[in-house]
Amino acid sequence: MAETNGDQILAEALRDQGVRYVFGIVGHPVIELALALQAAGLRYLGFRNEQAACYAAQAHGFLTRKPAAVLCVSGPGLLHVIGGMANAQMNCWPVLVLGGSCPQDHEGIGGFQESNQVEASRPHCKYAARPASASLIPLHVEKAVRLATYGRPGAAYLDLPATLLKQSIDSDRVARARPVPEPPLVFPDTRLVEEAADLLVCAKKPLIVVGKGAAYARSEAQVRWLVESTNLPFLPTPMGKGVVPDTDTRCVSSARSAALLQSDVVLLLGARLNWMLHFGRPPRYRSDVQFIQVDICAEELHNSVTAGVAIQASIGPVAELLAEALKNRRYSHDRNGPWWRELDNKRNSNRETVDRMSTDISQPLNYYAVFKTIQDSLPDNCMICSEGANTMDIGRTILLNNLPRHRLDAGTFGTMGVGLGFAIAAALYCKDEHPNKKVICIEGDSAFGFSGMELETMFRYKLPIVVVIVNNNGIYGGFDSETYTGIRSGGEASDLTPPNTLTPDAHYEKMMELFGKKGYFCKSTEQIRIALKESLQIKDAPSLINIMINPQADRKEQAFSWLTESKL
Ligand code: ADP
Ligand code: MG
Repeated sequence: MAETNGDQILAEALRDQGVRYVFGIVGHPVIELALALQAAGLRYLGFRNEQAACYAAQAHGFLTRKPAAVLCVSGPGLLHVIGGMANAQMNCWPVLVLGGSCPQDHEGIGGFQESNQVEASRPHCKYAARPASASLIPLHVEKAVRLATYGRPGAAYLDLPATLLKQSIDSDRVARARPVPEPPLVFPDTRLVEEAADLLVCAKKPLIVVGKGAAYARSEAQVRWLVESTNLPFLPTPMGKGVVPDTDTRCVSSARSAALLQSDVVLLLGARLNWMLHFGRPPRYRSDVQFIQVDICAEELHNSVTAGVAIQASIGPVAELLAEALKNRRYSHDRNGPWWRELDNKRNSNRETVDRMSTDISQPLNYYAVFKTIQDSLPDNCMICSEGANTMDIGRTILLNNLPRHRLDAGTFGTMGVGLGFAIAAALYCKDEHPNKKVICIEGDSAFGFSGMELETMFRYKLPIVVVIVNNNGIYGGFDSETYTGIRSGGEASDLTPPNTLTPDAHYEKMMELFGKKGYFCKSTEQIRIALKESLQIKDAPSLINIMINPQADRKEQAFSWLTESKL
């Protein structure tokens, strides 16, 4: 009789479920498992911190709709991953976490790295389980993949005690599981679609909000058609950008606050009324605004605000049926009517302010000048990863996405440290699916620090990611070196250093020298242009561009500061 063991069974079960990538860090008790995964044909990428590995896995899941796996060791390894799991779960992205854990016969007597990992994971995932025997592993893998991808996507956790991985059994005792089919499309109740159409037809100031659920749903063709056939203004959320191109004339991002504040009927396509959309309430919305909510997740319906129409379904079919229902009513929103005039005026005045700031290229540079230069240098189809406070928020308004799923950022959980992991996933995705597409990772200097050592990972796996650091010497902002030295003179550094500061003029680009390469240190738009041009040509290694900006540079004046007020 042929013998097999837990490592082998797990590796084959993952392969049979179509899992192609594993991101992680090896150590006791998962070293043999990592080798078994490679032997089974999965791609394994070793990271420098488990959290970043989990960020990469979930971004790969968002980009491909198939969960990638995270592999980590027991105790601290899994605890590091939990930050990543929580981020995936909050973003509604699929990911499958595999946590080694201490041998079962050491539990309760102080085993090495002993920790109750199933319970620790449970609040941050849709499924958390420990297979009771090696023979049952394929059933748990099937269930984990199914739960991670069906309905609202999210995280799944499998706990793998050393004793389970080493358990030997006859191969004919191994349970068989079928590959999980693609998640089914959920069709809406057509009566609700008719109600939604009626509401939109009567609206004076309708608006479509396109969320990252629409991006995940691959509903771009239907959502684009809905916008084109109705002339309705639309507003993408940060990661809903590109489902309909940012350059579409019906995109009202540059009149965001006004659009939200004035609209009387808002169609939500895969976006939650959480802090990012100001809870759907005054003072950011009219008190009589009506929402038409479209979401795959029944539990999400009517959250924060009772929807006028709540449709539990996949976005693609709803957008298509709604476009049809509106066509039957001969509806199209008047492009020269008062609502569009109001939005156009607002867009124009906001654009003028931004243009003024971005043409001011005096040094030290401001954010707008930096992003304008980056935007002018980037290929149109580039994938953009971004994090940081102002770096991300201002960048989002200037860097355009004309394709869906081409922006990855701090997301619903507002997590810093995601950028490099996301960029690694994006680069692997491009290598497999779009070899000529570029990945750029635009980081605040503080955000970069959380996962900065993943630069080595990028080198090891030959990933041509352009990492850009927008460096203002601190969190939100720091000080120039003269002020910084003055503040800290004559006392204890920990007493005198403001909590938001980082070392002024840090030469992050010199990290490239660890790998025998040179980075770029830029103070002018011309230097940025040259650095980007050269970096975008590199095919088999990352590059790093460190851009110094005014440490006190800020955003343009906001009517509402969505940065601060929506978070309180
Ligand atoms: P954003 O941050 O862009 O506002 P959210 O993450 O808040 O987006 O909301 C995305 C929503 O999309 C979630 O409530 C999720 O349940 C939903 N969703 C995910 N996939 C689909 C799908 N295929 N069809 C419909 N809704 C989906
Ligand atoms: Mg900073």
